[in-house]
Amino acid sequence: RRFVAFLVQKPVLFRMLYEKPRALNPTRTDVVMMTPWLAPIVWNGTYNIDILNAQFHQRGVRIGLAMFAIKKYVVFLKNFIETAEKFFMVGHKVNYYILTDRVEEVHQYNFTLGEGRQLFTLQSPTYKRWQDICFRRMEMIRNYTRDRFINEVDYLAVADIDMQFSDDVGVESLSELFGTIHPGFYNAPRQRFTYERRPQSRAYIPYDEGDFYYAAGYFGGTTEEIYKLTNYCHNGIMADREKNIEALWHEESHLNKYFIYYKPTKLLSPEYLWDNRMGIPGFLKRRRFVAVPKNHNEIRNK
Ligand code: UDP
Ligand code: MN
Repeated sequence: RRFVAFLVQKPVLFRMLYEKPRALNPTRTDVVMMTPWLAPIVWNGTYNIDILNAQFHQRGVRIGLAMFAIKKYVVFLKNFIETAEKFFMVGHKVNYYILTDRVEEVHQYNFTLGEGRQLFTLQSPTYKRWQDICFRRMEMIRNYTRDRFINEVDYLAVADIDMQFSDDVGVESLSELFGTIHPGFYNAPRQRFTYERRPQSRAYIPYDEGDFYYAAGYFGGTTEEIYKLTNYCHNGIMADREKNIEALWHEESHLNKYFIYYKPTKLLSPEYLWDNRMGIPGFLKRRRFVAVPKNHNEIRNK
C-alpha cells in the first residue's frame, strides 16, 4: 500500500502558481539570451528558479563539484567550500570532489555541510610546473569521471579554486554541456579571442571561426558529456606534447576548440565567472562566482 502511494505521489510542480510567460515581452533586452544554435545564455531575470528547482527535485538530481587544490592552492579551499555551502545548488544533492596532492592537510578541515551534501578528498598527482597542473586537470577529471563520478552524480561542474561564491549558482546553470563566457571577452570580436593560433597545435582555431571565448574556470555537464570533453582535450594536449608545442592558454585553449565543434547546450553569462578587476558594468546584475585576488608568483611556483 505504501509502495502504491509512492507511485502516485503528486509531482512537485502540481498547482505551482507563477506569472505567465509572455511571448512578446522579452525578460531582458540589454543582453542576448540565446545563441544561434538555440542554447540559452543564463542571465539574471531570464528564468524562474522556483520552476527549475521543482523540475530538478522531481528528478532527484545529484550534482558534483570538482576542484583542484594542488600545492599552495589549498589556501583557497576553506573559503571556497564555505561560500559554496551558502550559494551552490542549495537544497539539492551535492558532492564536492577535492582533488589534491595534500590529502592529509585537506582532511584537517572539518567542514559542516548542509543536508544531502558530502565532501570527498581524492588523491591527485602533482606537477612541477603550474602549466602542467592546469593541463593535467583534463586527464584527472576524465579518469575520475570514468571510474567514479559517473556512478555517483548526474551532472558534474569543474571549477577553479581561486574563486568564491557571492550569489546563487543553482540548477538554472545545469545542462547536458555548459560553458561560461569569459569575463574578459564577452564583447570582443573573434579575431581578438586568445585562441591558439598556430596550426601545429590541436587547439588551433582559425581567425574566421569561434563563437565565444569560454573560461576554463567553470564548465560542466552530464558525466557522460564531461567524459567526452575531458577525453578530447586530454588527447589534444598529449598530441601537442609529442610535437613539443603547448597551447597558449593551456587546457583553456583545448576547451575552446572543443566547444566550437561540440557546442554547449547552455551558456553561462559572466555572472557565473567574474573578476572584480573588470569593474561592474550595468548589464551585470549579479556576481555569483568571483575570482579571489592572488599573487601569481607567490602562489604558483613554490
Ligand atoms: N592549481 C592548483 N595548484 C597550482 C596551480 C593551479 O591547484 O599550483 C589549480 C587550481 O584549482 C587553480 C587552477 O588549477 O584554480 C587554475 O590555475 P589558476 O587559477 O592559477 O589559473 P588562472 O585562473 O590564474 O588562469
Ligand atoms: Mn583561477
